[in-house]
Amino acid sequence: MVKALTTDIRYLKGIGPKRAKLFNNLGIHSIEDFLYYFPRRYEDRSKLTDIAKLKIGEYQTIEARILGSGESRPFAKWREESSGFRRRFLNIFEIVVEDSSGRLTCVWFNQPYLKQYFKPGREVVLYGKIDLYGGRLQMQNPEYEILDSESKDNLNCGRIVPIYSLVEKLSQRMLRRIVKGCLDEYLPKFCDILPYDIRQRYNLLNIASSILNMHFPEDIPAQESAYKRILFEEYFLLQLSFGLKRLKADKIRGISHKINEDFLNEFEKGLPFELTSSQKKVIAELKADMASLKPMHRLLQGDVGSGKTIVALYGCMLAVSNGYQSAFMVPTELLAWQHYQSVRSQVSSLKYGGRAINVALLTSSSNKKEREKIYKDVKSAKVDILVGTHALIQEHLEFKNLSFVVIDEQHKFGVHQRLSLLTKTVNADCLIMTATPIPRTLAMIIYADLDISTVEELPRGRLPVKTYFVDESRRSWVYDFIKENVQAGRQAYIVYPIIDESKTLDLKAASSMYEDLKKNVFSQYRVGLVHGRLKQKERSGAMRSFKDGKLDILVSTVVIEVGIDVSNASVMVVEHAERFGLSQLHQLRGRIGRGKYQSHCILISDASTQEARARLHAMVSVSDGFKIAERDLETRGPGEFFGVRQHGMPELRVNPLGSWEVINIAKQEVKTLLEKDPCLGLRQNQGLKHTLSARFPDYEKFMA
Ligand code: ADP
Ligand code: MG
Repeated sequence: MVKALTTDIRYLKGIGPKRAKLFNNLGIHSIEDFLYYFPRRYEDRSKLTDIAKLKIGEYQTIEARILGSGESRPFAKWREESSGFRRRFLNIFEIVVEDSSGRLTCVWFNQPYLKQYFKPGREVVLYGKIDLYGGRLQMQNPEYEILDSESKDNLNCGRIVPIYSLVEKLSQRMLRRIVKGCLDEYLPKFCDILPYDIRQRYNLLNIASSILNMHFPEDIPAQESAYKRILFEEYFLLQLSFGLKRLKADKIRGISHKINEDFLNEFEKGLPFELTSSQKKVIAELKADMASLKPMHRLLQGDVGSGKTIVALYGCMLAVSNGYQSAFMVPTELLAWQHYQSVRSQVSSLKYGGRAINVALLTSSSNKKEREKIYKDVKSAKVDILVGTHALIQEHLEFKNLSFVVIDEQHKFGVHQRLSLLTKTVNADCLIMTATPIPRTLAMIIYADLDISTVEELPRGRLPVKTYFVDESRRSWVYDFIKENVQAGRQAYIVYPIIDESKTLDLKAASSMYEDLKKNVFSQYRVGLVHGRLKQKERSGAMRSFKDGKLDILVSTVVIEVGIDVSNASVMVVEHAERFGLSQLHQLRGRIGRGKYQSHCILISDASTQEARARLHAMVSVSDGFKIAERDLETRGPGEFFGVRQHGMPELRVNPLGSWEVINIAKQEVKTLLEKDPCLGLRQNQGLKHTLSARFPDYEKFMA
């Protein structure tokens, strides 16, 4: 019976192959998809108003009887956006309705087919905006429901009505009717897969009424309970699939690293700074994980500049001191090179087992000879720490005894890239790092399979970056400010949103401005340029020169956004700042304020909209990356949300951001369930098991 839910929608009444295609575009392929295609929002059309009490300008619902109807075809001329003036016969269909309090005229334009439904004597419910026309009240193009037609259900009026996301050629009415048909036929056959005791404990609605109340809620509280019930189930399943994967992974015997305190102390002593207490706390978590026999899967979060790299390096040291290899994967060549340099210098004075620690760099621009040598040295364990880009997930690269894997700035990798490095190393300990703070609920969903550590504080003595928002009129002040700082020995970034001057947009492009600045404004200083279309070598070259202090000013596009660390750089100017998202600006700003100097970030923008100016002012007043991310999510809304999904957001059938509490409870319950029934063998858990394999085939693959 349940099988019928997977039936292709082409075979449903009222849907042919053409409509089916349109629905397919919305991701609806089966009857089940219809049932779970939840409304984007609702409209309360349930409160009936007496005709005598209607108010002009408001959307209201009436229930009335049709007295009569008429049709006219005036010749009309009107203006259309695309084609200028148009002349055509209009079709105006008009009815007069009456309730116990009065009469009202309703009109529809160009829908002549309506006359077959609106016969005098019929009862109707109408919903629409009341206007004044020719001195009388009128409803134009109202939504309607004819009460004595074949369908007894009023789906479109006189109730809380679902509004779905649709594409052209599909109408709300049509979708409501189809969904209602599916609900009537299939809901009675729906079985709950959530175990009874859990439903009891949290007073969860049964699945059938939940689905019904998501589409056609009796009232708002009913819709809210339904939403919670469905979110619970969705998150429960997700967490369960991750939980099973973890159980399997935990059965794999990982590597238990011995803690060699003497060696680690020596490493710590050799650092040019003292670890913050937050770093120490996180390192303790890392040590405990790496000492245990279970493979580690840990996410390390921390704002830009909080010092995550050293935590990762600490892990590498644990591996080295046990005779194992480490792999350090980063998203860009520049970052790979930077990490390679800093790791090398930080371990240069250390020896283990009588020999120096060998660090190597592998990126896609390594030439064939270098590459072959590295492959050989990695295979023979001559290389202890391998730093690189996704070149590290090449098939042919083989480690002799890899025990520790770091993935930096993981949000820049797709989930699958992340997973491929992980599958390469079933039993290694993994540390995944990110500097994109996201709201807690979202973190629990995206990283449901990981333990989370957070570096909460910035290194001591860091002065918060001062941020300014100025307009074009202050340009010469900005240039003077840069000169002053460069004179004092500091370095500066100037960031542009695009590379080439484009004709349509008056944007300052990096390349042309670079020429201009170098020749005219900063002629006595050393100015460099990096952007995404430069050859890899040139780009890294300029970046290296800047890092080595051979350039004073670096003109660039957003390629410097991720991870680059130049502690002497203390000024950043962002041109056309309104073109960047808040989180992006925060990442950019994180490139300065990394050393002991007071840093300054100047946002230049002539943005005129309220909203853009408010966003830039927010950058001036807020420095906490977490708060900025929340604000970004609020203001940019679904777009940003979608971006997150691309970064590995699993498909849930309801928006997960609505209830942190539900998500938390579901997580606890999964834990309890898996303790009792780790193989999902109990009878009451068969529904869950079945659904899991149908819903998350992807995760199953990585479980195997
Ligand atoms: P992120 O967390 O953004 O990856 P990094 O690891 O690149 O940050 O660290 C930023 C800078 O702070 C680096 O120059 C690093 O050497 C320095 N740093 C890290 N930890 C400390 C500390 N405890 N005290 C002072 N400086 C530190
Ligand atoms: Mg970093």
